[in-house]
Amino acid sequence: MEEHDVAAIDPKLKEAENGGGNSINSISKEDFGKLLNGCDHYRRRCKLRAPCCNQIFTCRHCHNEATSALSNPNERHELVRHEVKRVICAVCDTEQQVSNICSNCGVKFGEYFCNTCKFYDDDTSKEQFHCNDCGICRVGGRENFFHCQKCGSCYSVGLRGNHLCVENSMKNHCPICYEFLFDSIKGTTIIKCGHTMHTDCYTDMLNQDQYRCPICSKSVLNMSRTWERLDQEIEATAMPEEYHYEVLILCNDCNTTGKAFFHIFGHKCGHCNSYNTRVISNGENHQ
Ligand SMILES: [Zn+2]
Ligand SMILES: [Zn+2]
Ligand SMILES: [Zn+2]
Ligand SMILES: [Zn+2]
Ligand SMILES: [Zn+2]
Ligand SMILES: [Zn+2]
Ligand SMILES: [Zn+2]
Ligand SMILES: [Zn+2]
Repeated sequence: MEEHDVAAIDPKLKEAENGGGNSINSISKEDFGKLLNGCDHYRRRCKLRAPCCNQIFTCRHCHNEATSALSNPNERHELVRHEVKRVICAVCDTEQQVSNICSNCGVKFGEYFCNTCKFYDDDTSKEQFHCNDCGICRVGGRENFFHCQKCGSCYSVGLRGNHLCVENSMKNHCPICYEFLFDSIKGTTIIKCGHTMHTDCYTDMLNQDQYRCPICSKSVLNMSRTWERLDQEIEATAMPEEYHYEVLILCNDCNTTGKAFFHIFGHKCGHCNSYNTRVISNGENHQ
């Protein structure tokens, strides 16, 4: 009878569930409900007691979404993650001090747990890690990132010694959607000029044929092909006699001023050949 019961369990399935070898009880207690609980943002087996408003939310994003929707603007606020002191077990509902194991039922609140950020996530495929310099947890694997002290943020290792540092570049809002970049859960792109924005917002911007940084107006891509095409178009399209005059221009790309013949298609910087310029004076005879 007993032998029959054991044989009925697929041996491979059993091994996968138990991690191989360990007794069912010691494993299943901590792993109970793993990946099955959470919110739109994270898989986790606890909720947070918000220290600010004393209400219960699954994560700080849930809190911030709920409070930013409040009709009274004075009640809108953001949860400070480091200040969370108490959590509520999602399995047995026991409220307790922040830790990673429920003091009542023994379930693990999160496969990944950061005691600094009071951050829990059962989905470790995101490769979470805590950066001491940033003071927050990030995703993508510690070995794939380095902390740039000047920019004040973690960047992918490919950018080490290979990007223009802008002091506290990430402690800004995305110039497209205005979300704060530093702890955004969306991916971020550093553009040639060193300014940063969401990768998705950057792609949208290029799709709308915007090739200037919205912060400093420098070209975000190598535009030399476009400039060559403009050279040809301008050469082929002479301006009428009465428009033959020079204008004073400022180049957005190299920041130098210079003169160029007025043309409706654009004005070329004599210094770096860019047409990403603006007219700052219409010449002496033409105001
Ligand atoms: Zn959430
Ligand atoms: Zn519990
Ligand atoms: Zn952390
Ligand atoms: Zn960092
Ligand atoms: Zn930097
Ligand atoms: Zn954005
Ligand atoms: Zn810029
Ligand atoms: Zn220039």
